[in-house]
Amino acid sequence: MVQKQIKGLNLQEITRICEMNNFPPFRAKQLYHWMYRHGINETNEMNNIPKEMSELLSQEYQFKTLQVEEIQSSEKENTKKILFKTHDNRLIESVSMIDKNLHTICISSQVGCSVDCQFCATGEMGFMRSLSCGEIIDQFIEITKIREEPITNVVYMGMGEPFLNYNEVIKSAEILHDPHGMNLGRNRITISTSGILPKIKQFIEEKQPYKLAISLNAADDETRTRIMPINKKWNIEMLMRELEKYPVDKKNKIMLEYVLLKGVNDTKSDAEILASYGNKLRCKINVIPFNDIGNKFARPDDATINRFIETLYENQIHYQTLVRWSKGNDIDAACGQLSAKNND
Ligand code: SF4
Repeated sequence: MVQKQIKGLNLQEITRICEMNNFPPFRAKQLYHWMYRHGINETNEMNNIPKEMSELLSQEYQFKTLQVEEIQSSEKENTKKILFKTHDNRLIESVSMIDKNLHTICISSQVGCSVDCQFCATGEMGFMRSLSCGEIIDQFIEITKIREEPITNVVYMGMGEPFLNYNEVIKSAEILHDPHGMNLGRNRITISTSGILPKIKQFIEEKQPYKLAISLNAADDETRTRIMPINKKWNIEMLMRELEKYPVDKKNKIMLEYVLLKGVNDTKSDAEILASYGNKLRCKINVIPFNDIGNKFARPDDATINRFIETLYENQIHYQTLVRWSKGNDIDAACGQLSAKNND
């Protein structure tokens, strides 16, 4: 019998399975707790589930969607990169970063990516397929088994463009946020996009409670199109117009991500234009000095990085400037470096 995937179903869907099999609805909540709260994949370990139900579930459903293939640990920081294998032998990567009392995981939403950002290792792989909600959730669950420290933050910034897998990504965020699931605060879940405009619109219209990050990376259209071809379709002005509709909430500000590339987007004038976007959107600006992936791009020197950041500080009225010195670049786990090198 071909087993169906149960990981990734929400409480309503699990309740339906229980009803179809004549199990009372409270059993669905028990099962949901075991799967998501406790990360248990073996039904015989779910000790308040009746034997008959346990046997039926283990025959008909597959609980585990990912296999841990390899764990690499950074020697410089408390960062680990985890390579997972999917049921169809695809490889994806996630990163777990612990800094003081914060444990942030960066998870993947697709195998590869079709967006083709020129500076990104995932983009170089091409696109294979989107991940199911269960595969997204299982990255979280498997990391809780590797690390003792509880996960405090989840960022959808691993492999793939989350908004090209919108439904599964949002469904997974709902399970992460659900008090009966992982119970993570809404402000602790960040979804990042390269600028898929119709989905940004949908995200705002649906009043999704999660944090939104935009991978901007250039101050003008010519540069952005050169490094992010998606800009030909949805340019900076179109993005800004949509983002201005995002409600300004002190706890839930938009994040403009800006990977700083030597000689490409690192001038004082770039910083000034970026500052004008920040003041308009009342958002956060996150500057990420580029992490080497052995391609044509390079990190600017320290003086250029400092000038860029100082210009942002000088022009800062309604935004907040952050600088992310990415973690785990000695194990290719930093921003833009994920590529699961063994995929076909
Ligand atoms: S930066 Fe994100 S959207 Fe762009 S190619 Fe890489 S994974 Fe895809």
